[in-house]
Amino acid sequence: MGRENIENWHVKKCAKACDGCEEEFQHKQELYSCLFFEDGEYQRQDFCKNCRKKEASALSSWKTVFMVPPPPAEEVVQKENAESLLRKLMAKENEEDLNAIFILMVMLERKKIFVERDTQKAEDGRKLRIYEHKKTGESFVVIDPELKLDQLEHVQEEVVVLLGGKPRNTEPEVEVSADPEIAD
Ligand SMILES: [Zn+2]
Repeated sequence: MGRENIENWHVKKCAKACDGCEEEFQHKQELYSCLFFEDGEYQRQDFCKNCRKKEASALSSWKTVFMVPPPPAEEVVQKENAESLLRKLMAKENEEDLNAIFILMVMLERKKIFVERDTQKAEDGRKLRIYEHKKTGESFVVIDPELKLDQLEHVQEEVVVLLGGKPRNTEPEVEVSADPEIAD
């Protein structure tokens, strides 16, 4: 299955209730999120202010705000955008997509859809960046491929092509052997 490496990047949803007192979080409530590395995988726990404790074993911890997740998107055919592509690539868990995943994440961070919470070093020495989705509170762990500038341009082009799979302008750029008499 080749799942050895894939624990490095992950999406963890924000809990609906405090992992300490089990009280449900309210919309816009301040909470404290911790990320642990246990049994070979990332575990996220979310605590209210009262239950927050100094988690010495936590890999990362940050303060955030609970947002009631938006209702599931209606069955509208959505255009591929940077976020949907990011989720798709992360779900595929292919090592080859790492660069594209990272570039998409940087794009989305610039758009203020994600905020970076922390950076960590993985056991294999790679740099991990922990991002949080501002609307849903999910945390995304992605590997920073530490691209060099020339690689960066190349990957950016790749991503643009991926995003351009469904071009906005659907008008085909084909030459129409137009008969000038018919054109009105
Ligand atoms: Zn609590």
